[in-house]
Amino acid sequence: MAKVTVIGAGLAGSEAAWQIAERGIEVDLYEMRPVHSTPAHHSDLFAELVCSNSLRAANVENAVGLLKEEMRQLNSLILKAADLNRVPAGGALAVDREGFSRYITQMLTAHPRVTVHHAEVAAIPEEVPAVIASGPLTSPVLSEAIAELAGHDYLYFYDAAAPIVVGESLNMDKIYRASRYGKGDEDYLNCPMTKEEYELFWHELVNAERTAVKNFEKAIFFEGCMPVEEMASRGIDTLRFGPLKPVGLKHPVTGETPHAVIQLRQDNFAATLYNIVGFQTHLKWPEQKRVFQLIPGLKKAEFARYGVMHRNTYINSPRILQSTLETKTRSGLFFAGQITGVEGYVESAASGLVAGINAARLAMQQHPVEFPADTAHGALCRYITQASPDGFQPMNINFGLLPPLEYRVKDKKQKNGLIAERALSSLKKLIEKLDNGIAQN
Ligand code: FAD
Repeated sequence: MAKVTVIGAGLAGSEAAWQIAERGIEVDLYEMRPVHSTPAHHSDLFAELVCSNSLRAANVENAVGLLKEEMRQLNSLILKAADLNRVPAGGALAVDREGFSRYITQMLTAHPRVTVHHAEVAAIPEEVPAVIASGPLTSPVLSEAIAELAGHDYLYFYDAAAPIVVGESLNMDKIYRASRYGKGDEDYLNCPMTKEEYELFWHELVNAERTAVKNFEKAIFFEGCMPVEEMASRGIDTLRFGPLKPVGLKHPVTGETPHAVIQLRQDNFAATLYNIVGFQTHLKWPEQKRVFQLIPGLKKAEFARYGVMHRNTYINSPRILQSTLETKTRSGLFFAGQITGVEGYVESAASGLVAGINAARLAMQQHPVEFPADTAHGALCRYITQASPDGFQPMNINFGLLPPLEYRVKDKKQKNGLIAERALSSLKKLIEKLDNGIAQN
């Protein structure tokens, strides 16, 4: 029986390899770390979370919650690892990043049908089926090969990562625990700012020295991960309506709502590390220390990791891929992950799941399946492969990508709940067909 090659043991590649191996097919999994690394990865573990430790909303009335629930139904390794390594984060599914990645690494390296190769792949594999899941920081030599395949119809933009501070170095006399509107278990640490503190901070932030953008690359900031200084430059109050929004975060002692609030989210089980929510940045490191130490409670903060900024590469999927994630021009060659133009950890893993199932099906002489349009997986795959190719931009999952209900429901939460119910029932039917070997299309 055919073997499948998977390139990249990130979020997408790990999930793809798991789905293939669990269907009885041998996998050659290539991961270049630790031989070569990327500018954002810090370990040799699979599925490393390069920035936030949150996989976002947990409930199915939220589209990313629905996507995760579908992944659970599809025996996802990434979701299993996340559920086992969950840390408190209000309504979000956040994880202990090391425990999460270690679990995935162990499950794949111990799998009897997975062979791991720690090597950089330099060319598109000749042998198919193959899944390319080399991520937004694909090594330059492979990027060049993909650009050739894609007809140089290749896009790029910048992404930025938030700094992480050491819990012990925080001044808890200035910081208070609370979750917005009391949702969750006072999971966040809140740094309240007076008007004067905020204005000084804002002034220093917008005037701080930034890392230079290379001449040959155009800086296009994806709105979902915009550097905090870039957002601040839009106006003095922009941050107060964004990541520094104080509403629902009354001070527990004074009962007053601060002028602005900076939130810190627990980053590991031991609660020794916290990331500064929404503070992805490309300020120079000494500037990050100087400016972020102006935040109340962070005067003596020790930085476990500074924020960074990187090139993020993705292909023009509407031109290149079918909704099964197989390329239009080379049968048996699949792409998965952020490189396809999905945006986010969960979306990357979900696309790896689809590509993995379909690569395994091809290896078993079966047709790849198109996920139903009314499931979150189907909607996401359709979006990235059927959007307008002109100005194609990466996309997070959202309910706007799924077909509307055939009847009107006023309440948004109820409406989303019904869409989620429909999606899960549609997915159940697909899983039954897959299990019975009767899926055809
Ligand atoms: P990756 O997880 O990057 O996996 C790709 C793997 O391929 C890597 O392990 C890499 O080493 C390997 N590889 C690359 N080239 C080769 C080669 N030639 N041969 C062999 N192996 C190779 N999303 C969020 O939801 N939340 C965030 O906070 C967030 N922050 C981000 C911050 C940064 C700096 C970046 C760049 C992205 C961020 N993203 C975030 C977006 C995205 O979710 C992540 O990049 C995610 O890791 C993408 O998953 P992936 O599997 O596509 O790629």
